[in-house]
Amino acid sequence: MSRFWSELTHGLSPYVPGEQPQIPGLVKLNTNESPFGPSPKAIAAIQAAAGETLRLYPDPQATRLREVLAAHHKVAPEQVFVGNGSDEVLAHAFAALLKQPAPLLFPDVTYSFYPVYCRLLGIDFTTIPLDAEMRVHVDDYLDRKGPVIIANPNAPTGIALPFAEIARLVSARSDAAVVIDEAYVDFGAETAIPLVAEHPNLLVVHTMSKSRALAGLRVGYAIGDAGLIEGLTRVKDSFNSYPLGRPAQAGAIASIEDDAHFQEARAAIMENRAELTAALVRLGFDVLPSSANFVFARHPDRSGQTLASALRERAVLVRHFTAPRIKDYLRITIGSKAELSRLTDALREVLAQNG
Ligand code: PMP
Repeated sequence: MSRFWSELTHGLSPYVPGEQPQIPGLVKLNTNESPFGPSPKAIAAIQAAAGETLRLYPDPQATRLREVLAAHHKVAPEQVFVGNGSDEVLAHAFAALLKQPAPLLFPDVTYSFYPVYCRLLGIDFTTIPLDAEMRVHVDDYLDRKGPVIIANPNAPTGIALPFAEIARLVSARSDAAVVIDEAYVDFGAETAIPLVAEHPNLLVVHTMSKSRALAGLRVGYAIGDAGLIEGLTRVKDSFNSYPLGRPAQAGAIASIEDDAHFQEARAAIMENRAELTAALVRLGFDVLPSSANFVFARHPDRSGQTLASALRERAVLVRHFTAPRIKDYLRITIGSKAELSRLTDALREVLAQNG
């Protein structure tokens, strides 16, 4: 605290990211990173970009990367926006599109960065409760006024809405911007990108941190109507002209071009998710049906806090949230098979002790 803080700074309640501790032999299943490395072609491209040309600024428009993403998603480059991780893309979307006279709508249980952006940017918001099974109901968003942001699959539940439901939302709410945060879409949900052509109010946000294993590079992007993208670009160019350095642009391009590596990694994660879900059910957990690279699970006999601490003592890190509705759940990232057996062995040991 300092007396030189602005009123804005006093009023913030910053997002708390999952820990990145240095514990030897740690099984790290707390921040939804990929257990597999990025495409070797992406690593080679990043290394090649780490040379003498670093004295030059990168392309402020990331033209080549936007062209490659446009071709990949079958849209025009004017419909693509890139940023320093999808967190930055989301922040710009909040400023450019989601600050409106009517409060922004999002679920009561979702990515906890959304209310943080609202406080930073002075955006009024209304949360809409998930149902008892932790599902989003599109109908709850139809007879209202404000813009909407929904993570699909939702975080931290992992539950996905079908394409037809997103289509219904975007059509019924043609009066407002609708942002669909698809950070986890590649692990079994269906993208809303095909709706962009018909719906000038839809922005779909993706990240290269999860399914492309590039969390350390910080690349995210959005696909939407050219008018929406122009709005994001106005905000970006009022904030930072060069959010993506040369290595980031080169690595992201090479990653998109390596489809074989991407398909293999996501298939392996989905297979490991099915195995982990079955193992957790055998241990007595309730596991929500996940379409993401994590599962959200609770045990009837132990609190979330007890389990998370007992796992930590065994050098297994999972994410635990303290918000009342989700405090008994653990969010467990889908790791490698070896990491997941370390987790299930540790859980078996913990559950065998008297609660
Ligand atoms: N959206 C959701 C739903 C997330 O869980 C995350 C990861 N914390 C992000 C966006 C941001 O990811 P990144 O900034 O690494 O692209």
